[in-house]
Amino acid sequence: MKIGFIGLGNMGAPMAANLAKAGHSVTGFDVAGTTAKGVAQAPDIAGAARGMDVVITMLPNGAILRDVADAIIPQMRAGATLIDCSTVDVESARAVAEQAHAAGLLAVDAPVSGGIGGAAGGTLTFMAGGSANGFAAAEPLFEIMGQKAVHCGDAGAGQAAKICNNMILGATMIATCEAFALADKLGLDRQKMFDVASTSSGYSWSMNAYCPAPGVGPTSPADNDYLPGFAAELMLKDLGLSQQAAEAVDADTPMGARALELYRAFVEDEDGRGRDFSAMLPRFETRGRG
Ligand code: NAD
Repeated sequence: MKIGFIGLGNMGAPMAANLAKAGHSVTGFDVAGTTAKGVAQAPDIAGAARGMDVVITMLPNGAILRDVADAIIPQMRAGATLIDCSTVDVESARAVAEQAHAAGLLAVDAPVSGGIGGAAGGTLTFMAGGSANGFAAAEPLFEIMGQKAVHCGDAGAGQAAKICNNMILGATMIATCEAFALADKLGLDRQKMFDVASTSSGYSWSMNAYCPAPGVGPTSPADNDYLPGFAAELMLKDLGLSQQAAEAVDADTPMGARALELYRAFVEDEDGRGRDFSAMLPRFETRGRG
């Protein structure tokens, strides 16, 4: 396939390289001039869209996605597929899909989980929204870049799944960290706390697979001085998107709102920027109730 890839950053570059490695003809474009292994560089954004069977975008946010969509959709040939893998607001995802459909394109919103390691290793999970035809066109590429793809529903459903999942993740990570900090102050050994909670109703991905306490549970960023992993500022972004969506549809999400406040303070006013999102544990450790 002839694939255009727009946004060759931390995630996009290894994803594009994996498509090229699998034998596709990939042409990339990034405003920062970044490149990826095996990927031809387009001279301008139109060059990564014109004549392509598929164009994939992997961009920072919804406003940039909308600008890029304005630039590329008129260049794409009817019947081609636009796949956006960025994490953006549901409204932007739906607006771009509508614009693509009006131009005779297939459109899929397909945000990912799995981070930079998953992008490099081709083990991402894709959460996709769009028509059955759009998903069918995108699926062989998801298989190269990832290990699992779920068709969640119509346009925007992929983004909806992503932000709901990450709202659970943000809240459970905070709950897990504050429980460890309380256990410390109660004199409870962290390993014992893990042994109980990970096999009892305190079980969660945050506790069991990504334990925020160093030296306890499986190896996680806590064992690497809280280097990300999944950076606190990316969690802050996703919690912001989930609150934006909740406001738009009048959903009551008090835990998500509180998680957003805590990660905002952690990233903007404390030392959370550039640290893994599980570094909430040392944050709680050093605090009292005041
Ligand atoms: P990044 O900032 O490293 O990459 C984004 C790239 O887009 C940059 O290279 C930037 O120059 C480029 N870009 C910006 N505007 C552009 C334009 N108008 N035209 C062309 N290129 C443009 O970010 P990333 O970590 O690769 O993340 C990309 C997306 O994936 C984000 O939406 C993020 O939320 C999501 N995501 C990231 C992770 C992660 O662990 N990094 C995990 C899951 C999802």
